[in-house]
Amino acid sequence: DQIVELIRHKTPLAEWPAEFFKVEDNIRRKDALLGADFAPGDALKALKSPQEVLDSVKESGLRGRGGAGFSTGQKWDFCRAAVGTGPHAAHYVVCNADEGEPGTFKDRVLLASYAGLVFEGMTVSGYVIGARKGIVYLRGEYRYLLEPLNAVLEKRRAAKLLGKSILGRTGFDFDIEVHLGAGAYVCGEETALLESLEGKRGVPRKRPPFPVTAGYLGQPTAVNNVETLASAALIAAKGAAWYKSIGTPKSAGTKILSISGDCERPGIYEYPYGVKVSQVLADCGARDTQACQIAGASGLCVAPNEFGRRIAFEDIPTGGSFMIFDNTRDMFQVARNFAHFFVHESCGFCTPCRVGTTLLANAMDKIDEGHGGEYDINDIWRVIRTLKTASHCGLGQTAGNAVADTLQKFRPSYELRLNVRDFEPAFDLDKALS
Ligand code: NAD
Repeated sequence: DQIVELIRHKTPLAEWPAEFFKVEDNIRRKDALLGADFAPGDALKALKSPQEVLDSVKESGLRGRGGAGFSTGQKWDFCRAAVGTGPHAAHYVVCNADEGEPGTFKDRVLLASYAGLVFEGMTVSGYVIGARKGIVYLRGEYRYLLEPLNAVLEKRRAAKLLGKSILGRTGFDFDIEVHLGAGAYVCGEETALLESLEGKRGVPRKRPPFPVTAGYLGQPTAVNNVETLASAALIAAKGAAWYKSIGTPKSAGTKILSISGDCERPGIYEYPYGVKVSQVLADCGARDTQACQIAGASGLCVAPNEFGRRIAFEDIPTGGSFMIFDNTRDMFQVARNFAHFFVHESCGFCTPCRVGTTLLANAMDKIDEGHGGEYDINDIWRVIRTLKTASHCGLGQTAGNAVADTLQKFRPSYELRLNVRDFEPAFDLDKALS
């Protein structure tokens, strides 16, 4: 309630009570895994040759934690093999800390409580790909973490864990700087992030070329999520076999979930991959759950008949967002809210996304006002299809997901607002797209 009042009165952040910014180690663990017994330098002291470390990361099965799940070993391998260009040829490590997905806040806690682990993962990455510089792209709204992060970096420099000749190894030079974003969701998309880092407007680039060959300043760049880098540090310290022994065969290790919404104990939870949605709901004290929005606004809306499904790349992949809605919530309004979010966050570069997100939100508003009918439902499907097939980047391609899911799984919440009730709901989006 206090926070609502502060926002309502537009109180500057600097005047907010300090306790609102206190972030503690509040990761709830099933089996105390990620970083629980890690001391600064553990990974760096254990480093063998870059090739051996790379082999170990590949062998561990580590996959990207931002949501897409690309093999980290493969990414580092591509980057290491790529050749820099021009007189300033170099390789770069970029930590994507532009955590903007609604309902995702696990990177914030990792950076607040385990920054050393993340920086050590970046240093391991630099060692493998041959980079001397790492950049953390920090979400603009996490400005208050800047000083604490710089303090950790200073400590690491003093301990010879960063800088020239790390731990006395000649030729092993690596340092990290933190760069602040300015609050644009699209800058979490890695190429928009790179544009922003270069001082330009955050518009996604065409891929390929992928950042591993042409990234920051056109040089080979490994862009990884905060949690991926933390996991990489642990793998370097404890080995691939340890890591692979956790999770499922296709999804090794653990996943940190940001749990919010209608439950008794929201917060950050770490689980081995493969955990069932129902288990997560039980652990956080969720009751009468109507739906879980997993993987954020662009993710999957999971209905109760799917609560037996698992958090894993082979079933429900997620960057970490897990929003719970009990049966007092109106799923139509949830989807309408997401539709407006995407209007606000579209970068405006391509027409399908710029116009499509607005058309979608307008249609949802029209239905909300009681003026919607069959035409609008059909129109919504048309717009979602265009968004998915014609948008320039992932933001537009996934902007219709929440509406599509709720329209299929929570039809009554739409029906009660329509002035015509006989619309055709059995729309198979995948079939229509194929
Ligand atoms: P993607 O599958 O296109 O790429 C994933 C990663 O693999 C990228 O780093 C990309 O460079 C690399 N890659 C893919 N193919 C490659 C190749 N052939 N060669 C070299 N590298 C290759 O996914 P994406 O568009 O980067 O990201 C989409 C994901 O982001 C979604 O899963 C979405 O849920 C997630 N997301 C996360 C947040 C968040 O806050 N964590 C916010 C929005 C979206």
